[in-house]
Amino acid sequence: MTRTADAVVVGGGIIGLATAFYLAKLQYGKVVVVEKEMFLGTGSTGKCAGGVRAQFFTKINIEMSMKSEEMLVNFEEDTGYPAVFDQVGYMFLLSDETELAQFTKAVELQRSLGLKVDLIDPPEINKIAPPVRTDDIIKATFCDQDGLADPNDMIQGYASAARNAGAEIITECEVTDLKLEGGEIRGVVTADGEIGTPLVINAAGPHAKLIAGMAGMELPVEPIRRQIVTTGTLDYIGATFPMVVDVKSGLYFHKESPGLLLGWADKSIKPSFDESVDPEYTDTIIMKALDRIPKLETAEIAKSWAGLYETTPDHHAIIGFIDGVGGLFSNTGYSGHGLMHAPAAGLVAAEMICGRETSIDASPLSPDRFAKGQVIEETNVI
Ligand SMILES: Cc1cc2nc3c(=O)[nH]c(=O)nc-3n(C[C@H](O)[C@H](O)[C@H](O)COP(=O)(O)OP(=O)(O)OC[C@H]3O[C@@H](n4cnc5c(N)ncnc54)[C@H](O)[C@@H]3O)c2cc1C
Repeated sequence: MTRTADAVVVGGGIIGLATAFYLAKLQYGKVVVVEKEMFLGTGSTGKCAGGVRAQFFTKINIEMSMKSEEMLVNFEEDTGYPAVFDQVGYMFLLSDETELAQFTKAVELQRSLGLKVDLIDPPEINKIAPPVRTDDIIKATFCDQDGLADPNDMIQGYASAARNAGAEIITECEVTDLKLEGGEIRGVVTADGEIGTPLVINAAGPHAKLIAGMAGMELPVEPIRRQIVTTGTLDYIGATFPMVVDVKSGLYFHKESPGLLLGWADKSIKPSFDESVDPEYTDTIIMKALDRIPKLETAEIAKSWAGLYETTPDHHAIIGFIDGVGGLFSNTGYSGHGLMHAPAAGLVAAEMICGRETSIDASPLSPDRFAKGQVIEETNVI
């Protein structure tokens, strides 16, 4: 017998699981999550750096982050499960007047939306992040509401809470096609058979374009490889060390017990599903890190890995029903900030699907913005 569901979420990453949880919590009906891998959260979510910040340049991204930060603080109350959200702060190092002007403008917008963010001088920077070289830095922005979240905690929390609220999660179940009739979604085809449903939520992260393609739709989400390096033990990195972004070089780093996690976005990388570690990419990260933290000269490299960003042309998510196919909803395209936006993303998507007023006006993230020429570019992307 064909199984049925009121909604099928494709993808057991952080976006799919948060969406499934809030849909089940709002009592949407029978919600099923299908994940192609054996374990949940092993896609982009399991590769991410865990950074959470509200210091964006666009209003919608700031609002998505501020809502998510509030929800992360209350994660246990909301889901019944604990998740580490370590509000150690986020710092953007600025080394010239152009950067200072851009970030000063952004700080004004962030403050107008209620974010507590400061512009600080090198002595203060070194108090917060002691080993950072600041002789070429003129100022930094710092927000102590930002910080680091544990992706695994969030995955387990949302998955368990979704199950408790009545959702079903099926792993090792790849969606290979979508069934349509008269332009309406009728079900998903998987390796384990079909699931009849009038609603598919595309939360397949870097694979979202392929899922949309199964319904004959174009979704502008490209997989772009990003790499990370971690160091061995560093006794000079304290428990309150924040996330630091060197705006000039694009390097970012934060404490990762027992040392540092280092990352950088190579903007020249072309879209592909290649997740192999490129030694040259690793070397570039290390060189940039040595320049900003000379003390790292004696550090050992612990690990290096690669993962995929699910990138849109304007570096904003795509949340909403897709025009032209009845019952296809997109929740993807977070362009490097999907972990930090997941709580708000799951809630807002579920509210839209349930026909409720949304907690945030997410209309700037609607899928039809590209066709309508209403894109708003986020340039503070790392
Ligand atoms: C190196 C790196 C660092 C990052 N750092 C940060 C950070 O500091 N902060 C932050 O907020 N974000 C960060 N990100 C981005 C963040 O990881 C993503 O935005 C987020 O994890 C996206 O979640 P997702 O659920 O959409 O995608 P995923 O976690 O990829 O989940 C999608 C799931 O869909 C499944 N799937 C795909 N196709 C199918 C199919 N046909 N059938 C069934 N299942 C399918 C996949 O197996 C996968 O598990 C980083 C990403 C990378 C790669």
